[in-house]
Amino acid sequence: MPEGHTIHRLAARHRELFAGHVVTVDSPQGRFAAGAALITGRRLADTEAYGKHLFHHFDGERSLHVHLGLYGKFADGVPPVPEPVGQLRMRMVGGGHWLELRGPTACEVLDPGQVAVLRARLGQDPLRDDADPLVAYARVRASTKPVFALLLDQTVVAGCGLIYANEVLFRAGLAPTTEGSRISAACWQEIWDDLRALMKEGVARGRIDTVHTAHTPEAMQRAPRVDRHGGEVYVYRRPGQPCLVCGTAVQRGPMAGRNLYWCPACQP
Ligand SMILES: [Zn+2]
Repeated sequence: MPEGHTIHRLAARHRELFAGHVVTVDSPQGRFAAGAALITGRRLADTEAYGKHLFHHFDGERSLHVHLGLYGKFADGVPPVPEPVGQLRMRMVGGGHWLELRGPTACEVLDPGQVAVLRARLGQDPLRDDADPLVAYARVRASTKPVFALLLDQTVVAGCGLIYANEVLFRAGLAPTTEGSRISAACWQEIWDDLRALMKEGVARGRIDTVHTAHTPEAMQRAPRVDRHGGEVYVYRRPGQPCLVCGTAVQRGPMAGRNLYWCPACQP
């Protein structure tokens, strides 16, 4: 599933292509036909990402809300608009560009009240300037759940996915099983600042890199990582391989229904 940095990149991309323009919206597949009718012919005022949720705000207090889930995908381009192929949920045309959306978990039109309700359910998004790490910390401190699970809980931290959760805990030298209630305010601030910096870099690069300069392939004279997720990481999907810092074999285990990776020596 895409992590928050991908959704923020999409929001920026769609703002660049469509903001300020009147667009036509339809649903060649039909499943979003009623929603499309509510926004077609309106001006797209702005776009916004909140965690893994994407919003297109239209004039007239209507917002398109998209959650890509596991299979959702956007494509865009310049006219001619391609003939619809396959299950095309939503198509938007305007401002000299077209946009296609396939396979999302959510694609719906909301009014401002419904947007507010959805946002109220979400935790703090490290990529947003209005995020407050202390609000997230209040939830962390009050919980006996492992910090790994809390990082993945979208009602605590919005936008953090599996790769960032695993990597930020390695970088903090923190055991992923550490209970939230045992995380100090200073430790949380450190995790938050690191997560924010890593995710901002992810937005800029379009991939997730988490290794310090000393552990890049060039610095270590090792082959670059080969993985469909790309990016240089410490532990994510490296089970059995030597830790880039200490050489200990990276471990993998299930936690909170997700794959946890850690170095038993660096994260005691
Ligand atoms: Zn290690």
